Parts: sequence; C-alpha cells; structure tokens
Amino acid sequence: MHDFQSILDEVMAAVRPVVGQGRVANYIPALASVDPSRFGMALATVDGEVFGVGDWRMPFSVQSISKVFALALTLSRDGDAIWRRVGKEPSGNPFNSLVQLEYEQGVPRNPFINAGALVMTDRLLSLTGDSRGVVREFLRAESGNPSVDFDPVVAASEAEHGHRNAALAHFMKSYGNIENPVPLVLEHYFWQCSLAMSCADLARACGFLARHGQVSSGTRLLSRSQAKQVNAVMLTCGTYDAAGEFAYRVGLPCKSGVGGGIIAVIPNRCGLCVWGPGLDSHGNSVAGVEALDRFTTLTGLSVF
Ligand code: GLU
Repeated sequence: MHDFQSILDEVMAAVRPVVGQGRVANYIPALASVDPSRFGMALATVDGEVFGVGDWRMPFSVQSISKVFALALTLSRDGDAIWRRVGKEPSGNPFNSLVQLEYEQGVPRNPFINAGALVMTDRLLSLTGDSRGVVREFLRAESGNPSVDFDPVVAASEAEHGHRNAALAHFMKSYGNIENPVPLVLEHYFWQCSLAMSCADLARACGFLARHGQVSSGTRLLSRSQAKQVNAVMLTCGTYDAAGEFAYRVGLPCKSGVGGGIIAVIPNRCGLCVWGPGLDSHGNSVAGVEALDRFTTLTGLSVF
C-alpha cells in the first residue's frame, strides 16, 4: 500500500520551485487577481479517505473542469445519442477555437472544447430544464460539501467578456446543433464554469469515475462502459492541445481548467485534484502538470 500523505508531501516539496511560474488566466478580470503563489493537492480514495497538502481546502474557480461533470450527467440521461451532437476526437486546437466547426458542420470535435461543452449544456438544459443547477447539486452530493456554489462575480465577468463563446453558440445554432435560445445556453454555461471548489471537493467529486460510474451513495450514475468512455475522452481531450504530452508525462485521464485546477482519475484507486494558478502556454497549470508527473513517477500508478 502507498503512504499517500508522505507521497503528497514529497510531491509538494519537489514542485515548490515551479509554484508561481506561468501566467494566471487574464481573459476575465475576476481570474487575473488570483494569487499565483497558491498550490494545493488532494487525493480521495475510492473508499472515502482524503489526503491533502498546501492550499487543498481553498476554493478556486473550476472553469473547464466542470465540463467533465456536465458530460457525465448528460451521458447518464441521453446515452449514446449525445455522440451525434458532439465528437470524441482531440482537437489539436485551442479550447475556444472556431476554425474546425465549419468543416465539421457545427458538430464540435469533443465535449471538452468550449463548443462541445456548450452543446452539453444545451442538451442538459433540454433534458432537465436547469443545467447549471443539476451540475451544482451533483457536485455538492459527490464532494460531500453542501456549500459548493457559483461565484457570481466570475459568472458576470464571463458573460461580459464572452463574445467568443457567444460566436461559437450562434455558429452551431445556425447548423441546428443548439436547441435552446443561445443567451440561455450561455448563461448556464458561464454559471457552471464559475463554480468554486477546493482540491478536496474535486478529488472526492471525481471519485465516481474511479469507481467505474458508481456515485458515493453506492448507486450508479454511469454504466461501467460509460465511465470508461468519459475517462477515455479525458485522456485524449482533457488537457487542451497538450493531451499527448499529458499522456506521456502523467498517463492518467485528466481535465484541466484555466482557473489552474486539474483533476485526475486512477481507476479502482482514487480521484486527484491539484491547483496552481500559473498556466503554461496551453492553459494547463505549470505546477499542476509537474505535481501529477511526480506523483505518477513516485507511485508507479497510471493507466499504462
Ligand atoms: N469559462 C471559460 C471559457 O469558456 C472556460 C475556459 C477553460 O477553463 O478552459 O472561456
């Protein structure tokens, strides 16, 4: 058995020199003001033990990490039908790119680029009437933290600066791949991205992917096969256009967000979350990539 607490302590000591490196996301003012010297990491085992280091209890903006939960919740209700609305191939382009959408007739390459996430929000809205509320309730339940909530300042900032997301949504609507009114889809998407959670919350919340689709109450959100699908899409598409580098260095299904968080899943073992606000040129946390690389090297745990 691994002594996870000592391993996390060792990882934190090793990554200290790179904490603060990179650039904090500045596309909205609400994120640009985050302290770049923060660093936290948490691990939650499939049977409920939680370990952490640094700022692991401090909430941060989850941003694109929320796309994993939106995908899982849509897949659980819609099944394979969602793959007619969104693809499952890496994009090799930035998360907010418009270029491929024209070639692909308004069907985004995968659910983790913004275009794909907007389609998931649209579908979840049609299926539930309250996409952002369903995502928040799920995260509260799975993290065990009933105070998980949206950050209205971040949500408002996203809306004010969301021209590219609006362009993506309108473009897809012109191809018939958005069912609801574009402003409603954007609103739910921005609020979903604004959720504030800690590493501890997120490590617990992604546990259902380590338990092959079983949520914390013991019931099932996803079939084994659907949980495998979500993990596979995370591995190939979860870390912007650096998924190859991530598979090579870390070897785990991961999803990053521009808030500096990264979640990772070790099937049968645990959920992990690391947070460091300084981002590399792909939009992934510099300290986060380093920490996950160290973690898998030290423990030998990966999907390969
Ligand atoms: N809310 C961000 C956007 O849509 C998410 C960016 C991200 O974390 O990748 O621009």
